[in-house]
Amino acid sequence: MSDCLFCKIAAGEIGGPFIYEDEQVVAFDDISPQAPVHTLIIPKEHCASLNDDPDPALLGHILRVAHEIARIKGIDQSGYRVVQNNGADAGQTVFHLHFHVLGGKSLNVQMA
Ligand code: AMP
Ligand code: ZN
Repeated sequence: MSDCLFCKIAAGEIGGPFIYEDEQVVAFDDISPQAPVHTLIIPKEHCASLNDDPDPALLGHILRVAHEIARIKGIDQSGYRVVQNNGADAGQTVFHLHFHVLGGKSLNVQMA
């Protein structure tokens, strides 16, 4: 999608280096980190949110990549959280599907 920020990042048109890349996804550090490790995983193909019913195989792959990001960042053993927001009430601000990988400190356990 031409006017989508994360499509531009996935295409390498803007943004910093990727932490991880394969045929389906890229991962890069969040511009406004909420924890010592805060990396975003996004599909290369545009999809706004879970409301677009993305391929379950892609979603499973993204969770595997979340583990890989945690391993790369050295937090797989200490612990990490995977967060994914859909729509206004959840605080979604970028409407290209993305998964947050957070860690590197003891995270607040509050869920809502
Ligand atoms: P969400 O609130 O779940 O939609 O998360 C969107 C995330 O994208 C926020 O944590 C932002 O800090 C992050 N973000 C916005 N613009 C950029 C950017 N250009 N590069 C990296 N992260 C970004
Ligand atoms: Zn997009």
